[in-house]
Amino acid sequence: MNCLFCRIIQDKITSKRIYEDESILAFEDVSPQAPVHILIIPKKHIPTSLDIEEKDHELIGRMFQVANKIAIDRGVAERGFRIVMNCNSEAGQTVFHIHLHLLAGRAMNWPPG
Ligand code: AMP
Ligand code: ZN
Repeated sequence: MNCLFCRIIQDKITSKRIYEDESILAFEDVSPQAPVHILIIPKKHIPTSLDIEEKDHELIGRMFQVANKIAIDRGVAERGFRIVMNCNSEAGQTVFHIHLHLLAGRAMNWPPG
């Protein structure tokens, strides 16, 4: 499959892996937008948040739990962090395999750009 993140899962493209289990992988974003910028992805190929099905609900919940665990491990949980999932072009989605962005380590702006 010609999907960048599926290729990262298969280790055909290298990444700085942070966490992995049977259904989830987390790795450093190659173009970090904050001191902590980690992507949390399901190993299942789901193109956008619009494609999440009822059978994926547990998986999606586990992605958030992995994000929480990484935030705690990185020492940013108390200070605060942002979890983002972009959907489609106007939101800025560029990789069509769903991913949570975990962003932390600096004050975040609201509204986002
Ligand atoms: P989005 O724009 O929400 O689809 O996010 C895609 C993210 O993937 C961006 O933050 C990119 O910097 C990141 N990205 C693209 N290619 C790679 C790669 N090879 N390894 C790690 N992160 C990547
Ligand atoms: Zn994929």
